[in-house]
Amino acid sequence: MNTTPTKNVVVRYPPSPTGFMHIGTLRTLLYNYLFAKRHNGKIILRIEDTDQARKVDGALESLQEMIAWAGIPYDEGPVFQSQRVHDGVYQQYAKKLLANNHAYYCFCTPERLDEMRKQQQKNKQPPMYDRKCCALTEDVIAKNLAEGVPHVIRLKVPRGEELTIHDVIRGDIVIHTDTVDDQVLIKSDGFPTYHLASVVDDHEMGITHVIRGEEWVTSTPKHLLLYRAFGWDAPVFAHLPLLLNADGKKKLSKRQGDVAVEDFINKGYLKDAIINFVALLGWNPGGGSTQEIFSMEELMEKFRLKKVHTSGAVVDMKRLNWMNAQYIKKMSIAELYDAARPFFHKNYPEVSDTALIKRVLCVEQDRLERLDQVGKENPFFFDDVAPTKELLRWKDNTDEETTQALVKAKDVLEKIDTDLWTRQHLTKILMDTAGDKRGDFLWPLRAALTGTERSPGPMDCAWVLGKDKTLSRIQYAIDVMA
Ligand code: GLU
Repeated sequence: MNTTPTKNVVVRYPPSPTGFMHIGTLRTLLYNYLFAKRHNGKIILRIEDTDQARKVDGALESLQEMIAWAGIPYDEGPVFQSQRVHDGVYQQYAKKLLANNHAYYCFCTPERLDEMRKQQQKNKQPPMYDRKCCALTEDVIAKNLAEGVPHVIRLKVPRGEELTIHDVIRGDIVIHTDTVDDQVLIKSDGFPTYHLASVVDDHEMGITHVIRGEEWVTSTPKHLLLYRAFGWDAPVFAHLPLLLNADGKKKLSKRQGDVAVEDFINKGYLKDAIINFVALLGWNPGGGSTQEIFSMEELMEKFRLKKVHTSGAVVDMKRLNWMNAQYIKKMSIAELYDAARPFFHKNYPEVSDTALIKRVLCVEQDRLERLDQVGKENPFFFDDVAPTKELLRWKDNTDEETTQALVKAKDVLEKIDTDLWTRQHLTKILMDTAGDKRGDFLWPLRAALTGTERSPGPMDCAWVLGKDKTLSRIQYAIDVMA
């Protein structure tokens, strides 16, 4: 066994175009990418579209868009399995297996198979084909085929053997062939199943490493048997841990809003944060490292397939929020503006004052977890406000004291030249004026500017609003108190 070849690595991206891209798929592609790049290997995109019924229009295009978006390009492809079906590739291979007695025709009707399964359920046996057709004579087979009796082709699994999967991540996994079903290889419509198609393609494409989710582990013995039946060497396998819901118990839900990469993007998660998050779903550099933020370059340098964990990886949205916030903090205002603009315009289609939006971003940047939050928490930057007397009064202060504070604020702010209307200058002037009476002075001002109990500090609010709006809001509050 050789689990660490460093030459001529070839891996594949083998998605089925059945809808949106799941974050589990993105993780599989990313790990394949990181592994291949590290070994100067090649990546082939293979579209596993033999199941025509499950095909979704536009899924292929969105998949390719996602791969481009993620920055994990492939080197060859796409190769379409449906095209290869059309060319008769899999049928030919199935015939080879029939000829060397590793496969057989099965003419059992769906009704019979159903009945058999029910019986097995009743007897608490695992559902497995009972091999009735394995014993058919040549004559019966020839007659049935001549009469066009519907049939499938099944793999003839040898009984009484132990099979070992050498998994890079999990070590050796031993499976008894008595538990392996005689898998259908060619369906009654003549199409190959996933098992036959993927083994044939992995072989023909020279795939050296099959890196895929743990849910495929149970298929791997069938694949090993197929390699053996064809007389081919099997690739190296690596099965990635399951993704789990936040409770750490259940397998990750399939609901689109929770797991579709596209929806993550639409919620305002940045690409770098999503990639970083996904990379850590089942991997970290180990060696006591507590690093959590990784650029793509660092991932390429540090990722090792062997360091992937075996236990399930929790998809914790709080962690993603935290990571996203880290990436948002690192952006320049110009970058943040470009990234946040579409989200902002969804919230405030009528606001087009770029300078105002950028000031809002400056103030909000440190607290933002998602781009779709931009401006949402602080609507008073864009909408008119109407503070009440109760809101304007600080603690037990009287109306008179409140008015005095507002008038004082108006006086000092009026004197500030618009050129000096900066965060630093406003902070200095207002703090100096407040002295040790911060609440008494700053609270009414902040309430006047925002009309709400919670907001950024009055200096930031005054800066964002600009001199004119600041003064007119203070005047409005003075009138309310009168
Ligand atoms: N088409 C399968 C999928 O959608 C590929 C599984 C494999 O990697 O063998 O995940």
